[in-house]
Parts: sequence; structure tokens; C-alpha cells
Amino acid sequence: MITGHCHCGAVAFTITGPLRPSIACHCETCRRLSGHYWSATQTLTSHLNLTRDDGLTWYASSDIAQRAFCRFCGSSLFYRLHNSEYTSIGTGTLDSPTGLYTESHIYLEEKGDYYRIIDDAETSNSQS
Ligand SMILES: [Zn+2]
Ligand SMILES: [Zn+2]
Repeated sequence: MITGHCHCGAVAFTITGPLRPSIACHCETCRRLSGHYWSATQTLTSHLNLTRDDGLTWYASSDIAQRAFCRFCGSSLFYRLHNSEYTSIGTGTLDSPTGLYTESHIYLEEKGDYYRIIDDAETSNSQS
């Protein structure tokens, strides 16, 4: 079982199902909300169990999706399409060892001009 939490601990969770490899999204929304690009794993929402949600706040980040953050410490936590049964989880909020790896980089056409991607993950200009 994988566990995770925000920086201050006001949101904590466990994940009981399989996790997708991490995907790094370089879109402008992810960069503005997280301060840099955002890498996330994903699981069925029914496998994500909140053990503490005092700080959990959902934000409508577009017409099709919402994102969750901690209202006390600001950690970027979750992303969910309105019509999806899956929730993306910021991989940096998981406790190690995660057993995960970064599979790909997406939305590179919106990436910032201040960094280069120098790992060995696949790069793509379209969302997976
Ligand atoms: Zn917090
Ligand atoms: Zn994004």
C-alpha cells in the first residue's frame, strides 16, 4: 500500500490499487498551479482513500477538470476530469519508496523556456 500527504499533513491518503507510471505535464496550468511542471501518477478514484482531509480544497481549473490542493500549505495534490473514474495524484506527495518511474513528458509545446528535459523518459506533444 502506498501512502502520501501534503507538506503540512492536513491532507493524507492511502492508495490500495495499482498506480500508473508518473507522467510529467508541462502545460501552463500545471506550471502556474505548482510553480513548475507537475508530475502525476493515477489510480481509480475508488482506490484513493483519504485518511485526513482537513485541508482538502477542490478548484475548478477548467471546464473539464478540477484540481485539489491543501488550503493550509498549498501542496498540489490531485487532478480529476469531471467524467473520469480516475484521479491523478501528484507523485511528489507520495512517501518513498513509490516503486514508480517517469514514463513520459506531455504538453511540451507549453513548457517553460527556462529549463531543458534531460532525463530518459519519452517526450510527446500530445496528452496521453
Ligand atoms: Zn497541507
Ligand atoms: Zn498540465
